[in-house]
Amino acid sequence: MAMRALVKHPDETGLRLDEVAVPTVGPDDVLVKVHTTGICGTDIHIYNWDEWAQATIPAPMTVGHEFSGEIAELGSNVSGFEPGEVVGAEGHVVCNRCRNCLAGRRHLCHDTRGIGVNLPGAFADFVVIPKSNIWRHIPGIDLEIAAIFDPFGNAVHTALEFPVLGEDVLITGAGPIGLMASAVVAQAGARNVVITDVNPYRLELAKRMGATRAVDVRFEDLQDVQDELGMTEGFDVALEMSGKSAALDDILQNTINGANVALLGIPSDPYPIDWSIVIFNMLNLKGIYGREMFETWYKMNVLIGSGLDISPVITHRFGVDEFDDAFDVAASHESGKVLINWVEPT
Ligand code: NAD
Ligand code: ZN
Repeated sequence: MAMRALVKHPDETGLRLDEVAVPTVGPDDVLVKVHTTGICGTDIHIYNWDEWAQATIPAPMTVGHEFSGEIAELGSNVSGFEPGEVVGAEGHVVCNRCRNCLAGRRHLCHDTRGIGVNLPGAFADFVVIPKSNIWRHIPGIDLEIAAIFDPFGNAVHTALEFPVLGEDVLITGAGPIGLMASAVVAQAGARNVVITDVNPYRLELAKRMGATRAVDVRFEDLQDVQDELGMTEGFDVALEMSGKSAALDDILQNTINGANVALLGIPSDPYPIDWSIVIFNMLNLKGIYGREMFETWYKMNVLIGSGLDISPVITHRFGVDEFDDAFDVAASHESGKVLINWVEPT
């Protein structure tokens, strides 16, 4: 049987919408009929076929890792799931053999492979997922919200890394992940949630996601914002979600002694930081990667089930034939989350 798929071919930029064979379902696999997919920064690197992508993607290959769908078929060794169930997937396939995997710390696996990066992806009518990576959604979930559980998981993992109840939280970077993190820390009981960016479109979205203040750091000083909010010693918790050196500098300059700082943003190049501030202020820095398997996923189900609304982060929707336009708007940053729908609306 044939299906549509967005395939990365070698020696060219962009993707091609190809007809390919529906992937074979192994005994431990689940075949998912894809409903909605989301475009991630990683997909834009792949689309642009930059140095990292050329060195990483085994092209030609179907790409994409943010998706929601329904179970179409179960491998012969798979039990506990039913065809028709609404599912998503953890995109990191772990080795199950390294020290961390054996200790149950799968998010720290020594040898992960990524769906849509190292393994065939979800920008297609069907995707094959190992049963160990399938995540069952809460009944009745909106399939667009389900499609962004991967980046929502990055936001939840980072936002819940440190206790935020009653704390003043600074988030640098109002991209889709920073925006969703602002909603999570607000729900988790933060006193003030201040989010920064240099992009007015995204700062406008931040106001709809529950931020106390959305700050354009080109024009406003965070010290003034602290004064305005009656803060005296700095932010208690900071989440770095831009990957930019200037943003980490804002964090170093505006956090309380002993602050907890979670770092998710990926710098495009190494940058220097003022270590004397980290040392004298006894800051606690923690790198964050991916999602905890599957504690973050559990928290996501509970947060959505208890009414957390992250829908304002979804700003654009496209059909499969319009995928080039979808990638253009995602790369422009005049957008929040950009979705491609694989099933015609009924
Ligand atoms: P994004 O690139 O859409 O958002 C980053 C935002 O930071 C942009 O809106 C940009 O305008 C803003 N920014 C630029 N300079 C800034 C500054 N000086 N101060 C404050 N904000 C500034 O990215 P995203 O999809 O929301 O992801 C956030 C970050 O997390 C990215 O760096 C991404 O590469 C990274 N990421 C990490 C993981 C992980 O597992 N560690 C997973 C996914 C994404
Ligand atoms: Zn491992």
